[in-house]
Amino acid sequence: MGTPYSAVLTLMVTAGVINIIMGIYVMSNRSKQLMGKTFITMCFLSAIYIFGSALELSAGTLKEVKFWITVEYFGMPFLPPVSLMLIMHFLGMERFLKWRLRFIMYLMPLITLVLVLTNDLHHFYYRSIELQIEPELHKVNLNVGPWYIIQGGYTFGCMIGGVVLLLLYWNRMRSSYRLQHMTMTVGLLLPLIGDFLYLGNVTPGGIDPIPVIMTITSALYMWGLVSKGMLNVAPVARDTLFESMSDGVLVLDMNNRLVDYNPAAASVLPELTTSSLGTAIEPILALHTDVNLLALHAGGEEEMPRIHDEIKWTAGNQSYYYQIRSSFVRNKGGKETSKLIVMIDMTERVRLQEQLRELAYHDGLTGIFNRLHFIHLSEALLHQSATKDEPLALLLFDIDHFKQINDVYGHDVGDRALLHVVEVCRNMLRPEDVFGRYGGEEFVMAMPGLSWEEAEAAAQRIRSEIAVQSMVAATSEQEISVTASFGIAVARGGCEEKDGGINQLLKSADNALYEAKHSGRNTVRLANSSN
Ligand code: GH3
Ligand code: MG
Ligand code: MG
Repeated sequence: MGTPYSAVLTLMVTAGVINIIMGIYVMSNRSKQLMGKTFITMCFLSAIYIFGSALELSAGTLKEVKFWITVEYFGMPFLPPVSLMLIMHFLGMERFLKWRLRFIMYLMPLITLVLVLTNDLHHFYYRSIELQIEPELHKVNLNVGPWYIIQGGYTFGCMIGGVVLLLLYWNRMRSSYRLQHMTMTVGLLLPLIGDFLYLGNVTPGGIDPIPVIMTITSALYMWGLVSKGMLNVAPVARDTLFESMSDGVLVLDMNNRLVDYNPAAASVLPELTTSSLGTAIEPILALHTDVNLLALHAGGEEEMPRIHDEIKWTAGNQSYYYQIRSSFVRNKGGKETSKLIVMIDMTERVRLQEQLRELAYHDGLTGIFNRLHFIHLSEALLHQSATKDEPLALLLFDIDHFKQINDVYGHDVGDRALLHVVEVCRNMLRPEDVFGRYGGEEFVMAMPGLSWEEAEAAAQRIRSEIAVQSMVAATSEQEISVTASFGIAVARGGCEEKDGGINQLLKSADNALYEAKHSGRNTVRLANSSN
């Protein structure tokens, strides 16, 4: 073998050795990142390919040549997809690398490998391989078959795809990672150029130039790895952060088309799939909320971030609450380049607030208004009746001998008796009436528009209904009849507000109730108009 071969072989072996060293180096760093694992795979596949090529070059017989070509194919066809995956890791596109995509990416080279291994049976990959022995260099003449073309297309597709991705992300990448970015781009561009030269048959002796070119790219990677920590790029960290965030994040372009989203966003918007990328986000958002979250104006008063608090969000039959923050992403010059929508789940907080509000306004046992809120509401009613010049009736009632129910049947049955009475009353009230629990077994109703006579009639109806509707004590199946005594006070249209307001009215009703109790209970008494 002549001198040119020795030089080429030396370069190849160097490249092979560098790849093995890099593979072991990264392995010994126990990289847990997928990017590290992909890189290790790439190094060993490269080494197989390079050593296979070197041994093919130095082979003396056709049999040996064929054998080493087969060995090369255990590495070579897998390299383009693995490089593309490495780039996707580097650019923080890990979430697109689902197992299905990985499988498809590996499927093509696997088919190629099987076809090469079985080529003698079908000649579908190489139609023929001939060895032309010449004094200076021997030449392998390959007559390619259909699948060779397909594999070639796949190789170019992956490599060009990788270059395109790197270029697309050029501006987005933080400047501190430019060197790594550059290394990746050159590491892909050089073999791509080599491939073109090889296909154009302009390489000396028709040698595959890639293994030689890989001396340069491997040295570049080695430098990037050792001195620049090429695999420890923040995009990976950023990606992990983006992936693991519990808040949903959408990245949109300036035309509100989806550029990127994280898994949390996909659980807020279950319609999102990778095929939603590049499409308008508005129809998807509209499925969940009526609020226009995209109305964002650059510059001026509307400057970001714009926060929509407690947006009601519907998904399926459930409703949730989200705080939505929209903001612009700007380039270094301050120009808006994209929009960021962050969706923070507030459902728990809003539900808690609702519960607190419920507890603040309502009685815990019966669910009707508590005393404080009743007073608040009836004050408003009193004011309304004053302006409308209409009366407002207050009915205060207290359950008779309630202590006995507790004593005889127990506190639980006592509670149920309270619920029973509330239920009976509720069915007899008009929508405009306000009903509250005044104390232990004392209840109060504010009924707008009722005169003394009407209020008395209403009280009598409710009193007799309570007395008639007996309840069953669960334990003994014994019927318990409950009665109540009523005191009524009525504010005459327009007067009572300045005569002491609702508290005076309640006091009058309480006096009347006291009289009702003293008159034998289960009865209704009216307050003196002078009270
Ligand atoms: P009167 O006819 O004079 O009103 O007699 P009474 O027994 O109803 O009057 P009293 O005010 O002496 O007793 C009221 C009882 O109601 C005392 C208290 O233990 C009971 N009570 C108050 N709140 C509740 C409650 O939420 N659940 C139960 N089970 N009992 C209650
Ligand atoms: Mg009582
Ligand atoms: Mg009482």
